[in-house]
Amino acid sequence: MNKGRLIVFSAPSGCGKGTMLAEILKDERFAVSVSATTRAPREGEQDGVNYHFLTREDFEQRIADGKFIEHAEYCRNLYGTLVSEVDGRIEQGLNVILEIEPQGAMKVREKRPDAIFVFIVPPSIGELRRRLKKRGTETDEVIEERISKAAWEISQAEKYDYVIVNDALEDAVSDFFTVIRAEQLKQEFSGDIIEEVLKNA
Ligand code: 5GP
Repeated sequence: MNKGRLIVFSAPSGCGKGTMLAEILKDERFAVSVSATTRAPREGEQDGVNYHFLTREDFEQRIADGKFIEHAEYCRNLYGTLVSEVDGRIEQGLNVILEIEPQGAMKVREKRPDAIFVFIVPPSIGELRRRLKKRGTETDEVIEERISKAAWEISQAEKYDYVIVNDALEDAVSDFFTVIRAEQLKQEFSGDIIEEVLKNA
């Protein structure tokens, strides 16, 4: 069986990334890595489902123990990808998605150069602000902090392999699957296809 692929999926918060992921995960060949974070759970978020919610002390201990593929500080909280969320599932043939911000993504680029780097952008910063306000989970101050962070993040899109504009959800999801399919067809990831073709004379 071919191994799965590691997919780094980044988007400023409020870009509809969660909705896109929910659609993508309906395809059982895809799984998402549940990150660890020191941020407090938002309403409705569950430990072990949305994140592994850890104290800073616990998080720092796991860094020291080498349990993370990458970690980064974002808006005064730590976020990180646990090795245990990723490697076993890739071995089993699953495509594992890391939903992480650009600093962490670039650390993954160094460690796992065969990962696929996809960046999601909103149609505009104005639309992003409207979406964040509509979500109503953050204060105006936090929203503005996230907007300026988003502008910086969007400027990092050039470091990714693919950029998808999430305007209409269906189109964005379809673009994502197109990217993954094209990646799977790359010669170096096509497994034993050529051998099989030549063997069946
Ligand atoms: P939120 O607090 O809105 O859930 O996430 C804030 C940011 O942290 C998002 O940009 C999200 O992609 C990023 N993030 C979530 N998990 C991880 C992780 O494991 N590592 C890194 N580097 N960023 C993460």
